[in-house]
Amino acid sequence: MKFYLIALLSTIVLSCNSTQQLPNTKKTNVDYANTITAENLKKHLYIYAGDEMEGRMTGTPGQKRASEYIRDFYIEHDIKSPLKSNEYYQPIPGSYFNGRSKGNASENVLAFIKGSEFPDEVIVLSAHLDHVGTDAEGNIFNGADDDGSGTVSILAMAKAFKQAEKDGKGPKRSVLFLHVTGEELGLFGSRYYVENPIFSLENTVANLNIDMIGRIDPDKIENPQYLYLIGSNTLSQELQDVSTMVNDKYVQLELDYKFDAPNDPNRFYYRSDHYNFAKNNIPVIFYFNGVHEDYHKMTDTPDKIEYELMAKRAKLIFLTAWELANMDRRIALD
Ligand SMILES: [Zn+2]
Repeated sequence: MKFYLIALLSTIVLSCNSTQQLPNTKKTNVDYANTITAENLKKHLYIYAGDEMEGRMTGTPGQKRASEYIRDFYIEHDIKSPLKSNEYYQPIPGSYFNGRSKGNASENVLAFIKGSEFPDEVIVLSAHLDHVGTDAEGNIFNGADDDGSGTVSILAMAKAFKQAEKDGKGPKRSVLFLHVTGEELGLFGSRYYVENPIFSLENTVANLNIDMIGRIDPDKIENPQYLYLIGSNTLSQELQDVSTMVNDKYVQLELDYKFDAPNDPNRFYYRSDHYNFAKNNIPVIFYFNGVHEDYHKMTDTPDKIEYELMAKRAKLIFLTAWELANMDRRIALD
């Protein structure tokens, strides 16, 4: 009976395969990456880093509107939550923020695409949803680059993965879209996530963290087709090898590792949300354009973003996540 059932199932599987000649199934990873466009990123960023969000300070009404914007995007595109309650919010009590949120509670926002072959293994794409709010005079710090750029890039990547899933080309491993809060106050949201993970940390294959990818470092004005990568071979040489292969094959940005130098005084490796994954022995890549004259100023506005360049960087990250999610075996730790 069992053998018969297996034989029957293989027949069904084979017949399903034979029907996959629809035009849309001929799409490739590059076709899905190309759904991430400058125009689309710009449309979302002008809203996400608009004055209505009031600088997205953790726990404020502006930050709540930002979380709602992210959640509503996932609902609109039928991208599900991995939380048992089927809510998109992972609530964090006000007491967790050590007084830095004036006692206000906040939340991480989570959505995911379930893996087709290894659903328990997960690639985490992260960006922080909060920023520094307003100053005493009520001036708004829009945080378009920091980290509106990472936030809207993840939304676009999620939509691309969802389209692939609809076409029968969903990732083999699960992909988690993790929008963390409280970063500017001290990496609180990512720390809360790793202390209360939705996928076990053992099965968390890698974290690709994006924090500022829409601008150009003044040092790079002459050669702006670059991106700084931090930490990419700290725990897994294979992660950096995959990243390099993907870039060489599809995107051809200059990947600059200068901030990986052990004596680098900026200590960027410790300064964004990937660090909470790295300290749990999860391989990470931190994607970053470097600081610029508008960093943490009220002049970090959406009109200053280089949208074509940002789209290219987002495609690199998407294609890297695609590769990590579809490899026959997960990348190895060194
Ligand atoms: Zn940031």
